[in-house]
Amino acid sequence: MTVTTITTATDIYDAVPVTTEARNGSGNDSKGDQRPILFLDIDNCLYSPDYNIHIMMSESHDWRRQPRHTEELCLHYYVEYGLAIRGLIKFHHKNVDLSLPLEDILKDDPVLRDMLERIDARIWAFTNANLPHAQRVLKCLGISHLIEGITYCNYSEVNFPCKPGKDAYLRALEHSGAKPGQKCYLVDDSAKNIIVAREMGWTGIHCTPTHSDVGNHQIGYIHDLLKVVPELEKKRGEEEMEVRPE
Ligand SMILES: [Mg+2]
Repeated sequence: MTVTTITTATDIYDAVPVTTEARNGSGNDSKGDQRPILFLDIDNCLYSPDYNIHIMMSESHDWRRQPRHTEELCLHYYVEYGLAIRGLIKFHHKNVDLSLPLEDILKDDPVLRDMLERIDARIWAFTNANLPHAQRVLKCLGISHLIEGITYCNYSEVNFPCKPGKDAYLRALEHSGAKPGQKCYLVDDSAKNIIVAREMGWTGIHCTPTHSDVGNHQIGYIHDLLKVVPELEKKRGEEEMEVRPE
């Protein structure tokens, strides 16, 4: 089976993703790297939900002409399909993410970049968006080079796996090459996604500006991640070694 749902930092800007099998047959070339894997959701997690990109998405397509109010239709799709975008793709538009003027909205985030650079873990994006959208967001934020790979939704796939379906989590584990017992974290703005992450044995960090009791930890903004999982921060000596000239 050919699976076109993985990419790496080296080809992150390539339009054509590599296949899982093309890498090494097991989904990842990070054999032996036992560091924790930090899975990061992208939309409304790596940037503020105040940008209302999800609303722009819902307002930019033909479903506005549907008799139901947009939000009601979103909820309908969420309930029926587990994910609003799967309903959108199924009935309205195949490239719903691509019409958004992301470059006009999302800007370089040096605070986020600095925080990710201080993390001693493999960092893997895990999104329900499609690959071009995921790449655009990461590029806008200036953090593409810090993301080892992306597990995303392939909208051309029939009933593509997506969070909070456990098949999506299993796919992310396969893509990242996670080993049994390897510690995994998920940062996500969706409570449902965090709940399933916990069921999978991952550490869940709910990133939301509203009150939450979901997951192992809660943060209001991604910049605060290391405050709740300080174990992921590089030790001072490790940082000094990395910048030491040869
Ligand atoms: Mg999200």
